[in-house]
Amino acid sequence: MIPGKYFDGTSSTGATASLALGADGIARVLGLHQRVEAPVSELEISERVGNIARRIRFPGGGVFETRENDAIDEALESMEMRPAAGWVHRLESRWRMVFSALVAVAVISVVFVHWGIPAMAKQVARVLPAEADRAIGIGTLETFDRMMFDPSKLPAERRSALTRRFTDMTGALDDGHVYRLEFRKADAIGANAFALPSGIVVVTDELVDIAKSDDEIVAVLAHEIGHVRGRHALRQILQAAGVSALAVALLGDLSSLSGILSAAPALLTAKHSRDFEREADSFAKQWLRENRIAESSFDAILCRMTGTHGPKEKEAVDYFSSHPATDERARCTPEN
Ligand SMILES: [Zn+2]
Repeated sequence: MIPGKYFDGTSSTGATASLALGADGIARVLGLHQRVEAPVSELEISERVGNIARRIRFPGGGVFETRENDAIDEALESMEMRPAAGWVHRLESRWRMVFSALVAVAVISVVFVHWGIPAMAKQVARVLPAEADRAIGIGTLETFDRMMFDPSKLPAERRSALTRRFTDMTGALDDGHVYRLEFRKADAIGANAFALPSGIVVVTDELVDIAKSDDEIVAVLAHEIGHVRGRHALRQILQAAGVSALAVALLGDLSSLSGILSAAPALLTAKHSRDFEREADSFAKQWLRENRIAESSFDAILCRMTGTHGPKEKEAVDYFSSHPATDERARCTPEN
């Protein structure tokens, strides 16, 4: 006799009852007003999962529920309800389920990392104030100054003319960021420009030198402003945190898998930062269109910066590591 509760399917409260599995192969629920019995072979008995109550469903729809898992197993065992083929089959189907679950988790993770995490980072960035971007950028320019920059050698009038154009560009944006243009001489990186999350845009003397017009420099500045406005540094940090959190959630202990996983964040970062480049490019091109500056100014200087002067040269040289290949972003011809 196994104590438990019987639910007849019409009321939600169960009646205290007990289950008897007879030697005649009939299961009987005792202690009820009505008679409930059925051959054991016709019962649906739920699998044992930890200490969760077992449910034994009778053909009429009634359910006997009990926490006496051991007693149920023993009774079934003694009635030879678990023939060898049965557990092999169950094990096999369970492995198939585990494998399908693993595949499902892998697919969901990939989709989540590709689209879910970037979308979430964008939402989180939206609720964070522009001060968050400034906090990330603090000290960055000083570090670069120590590492690879020298003071600009450009004439003061040239610098102030470009600064005026930059101020015109950023003055109307009103997006909470504090924009500032800085000039540096940089032998190590040559013609280049980049944005710090704090709103500082740095252009090198070399970039100003290779530009054939101020519109070309403005086009590059628009791209860099696109990075600040798009809050790419903040989103990159949030995305990296999201990927790590997901990895820990899925794998628990990272240390044992660090070998396999060490390359993954770098690959993801590269993919995500290519997306940011495209976003900055499209901001720049839209800005140029709105301000009636030829979009070809952007293509021209980008091609010159990367030295891609013909369709044959397809190397992905860039001003800051993981930009998409230039020929994917700009139409490079021998003329520009
Ligand atoms: Zn960029």
